[in-house]
Amino acid sequence: MSNALVLFSGGQDSTTCLAWALARFDHVETIGFDYGQRHRIELDVRPAVLAGLRKIADWDSRLGEDRVIDLAVLGQISQTALTQNVAIAMQDNGLPNTFVPGRNLIFMNFAAAVAYRRGIKNIVTGVCETDFSGYPDCRDDTMKAVQLALNLGMEARFVIHTPLMWIDKAQTWELSQELGGGALVDLIREDTHTCYNGDRTHRHDWGYGCGACPACELRAQGYARFTAA
Ligand code: ZN
Repeated sequence: MSNALVLFSGGQDSTTCLAWALARFDHVETIGFDYGQRHRIELDVRPAVLAGLRKIADWDSRLGEDRVIDLAVLGQISQTALTQNVAIAMQDNGLPNTFVPGRNLIFMNFAAAVAYRRGIKNIVTGVCETDFSGYPDCRDDTMKAVQLALNLGMEARFVIHTPLMWIDKAQTWELSQELGGGALVDLIREDTHTCYNGDRTHRHDWGYGCGACPACELRAQGYARFTAA
């Protein structure tokens, strides 16, 4: 029986990755991280997204345990616009101040530790080089290096899957359409959360959000191109 662990934040990308895994693997578990993110509301939407996925195809029988790991320490060691209430801006080094140093590296290590304990071989993450904010820990080379380091360090044979690595946000919407049809697209619009400002009061055709932060802009532009196609 094939199995996978999906890094599931409650956002559009990780929800699409979770659907991708449910379409491929017999048994799929999920892991999320509470690191004091100011858009912590994404953790609150996770149960509704999981419940919605259970209603699509035979995914209910494939979807297993969900867990949220407390990584508040990440908020203690980093000062970024994602963990503090400061304006989102570009830094001198060319990276936006939403970059949380080491975040994805730390996430992958904790995910692998859980996968090891659970006897899970495949680890799925929604990192992406296209349309991204220049985060170096989202790069394909970084993930390949992480896979090597984890397999050496844990004497394991994990396979890290990154289904969104080379597609843009419009194609991510398309992928969700292919995987789960209109039901999945509607679920992603209604229940997933992407906005950095944690805004769930303003409703757009692409979902809830402030409409102005970089995450909202990417999501909105992708949805516009998806629906225009
Ligand atoms: Zn926003």
